[in-house]
Amino acid sequence: MTRAFLRELLFPRNCAICGKALFFGREAWYGLCGGCMKGLEPGGEERCVSCGKPLISEDSRCLPCREGEAGSLDRAYSIYPYSGPWRKLLAAYKFEKNRALGNFLAEKLTEAAAQAGFTGKDGGLPWVPVPPRPHKIRRTGWDQVSYISLLLKKLGLPVYSCLKRLPSQSQKKLDRGGRMTNLKGRVICIKQPPAELILFDDVITTGATLNTCAAALKAEGTLRVLGLSLFYG
Ligand SMILES: [Zn+2]
Ligand SMILES: [Zn+2]
Repeated sequence: MTRAFLRELLFPRNCAICGKALFFGREAWYGLCGGCMKGLEPGGEERCVSCGKPLISEDSRCLPCREGEAGSLDRAYSIYPYSGPWRKLLAAYKFEKNRALGNFLAEKLTEAAAQAGFTGKDGGLPWVPVPPRPHKIRRTGWDQVSYISLLLKKLGLPVYSCLKRLPSQSQKKLDRGGRMTNLKGRVICIKQPPAELILFDDVITTGATLNTCAAALKAEGTLRVLGLSLFYG
């Protein structure tokens, strides 16, 4: 018996959603029981072709996108609403640092990229993570997006970290306009960015962060930015 096996037997991980003990295999690897994993599947509703959020009564493009809020992203897609069990999923991953959920989320991102048609003809566009705020890793011990980058690399995907965030105010209490201004010029390229890429983040709310990153990439020569996020608020 290996030590890891014994540890799992004595201290099983619990499902992040319902709390049920998970002993082995797939459930323990993802940190979720089979039932909750099923319950987390997003609905099959139609999505906006520009931003990837579900459409309400619109046809192919949502109202904000029609009104020209698309910004610097060429297209975007997001998987889960930031509500109900999905909110719990993100909280357990981000704040409780439940790393097993990273395995689940990294795989879902790759599936979503394929589903949204983002993976390119040869299947291999570079993946660029949205950079953490300065000193975040030193302060909190980790960054949930950087950890996903690591897992994507393990899955064999070409991850290219070419962005850096300079100090700015926290975005939390600002509206969309305020967020855009606060971040303006606060994201820079530290390496020559690829011509076409998948820019990814954990949550998209107003889209200001993804748009600021996309603008920084385009200023350095990127032609096409496909935004991908796990949760939309
Ligand atoms: Zn469960
Ligand atoms: Zn839209």
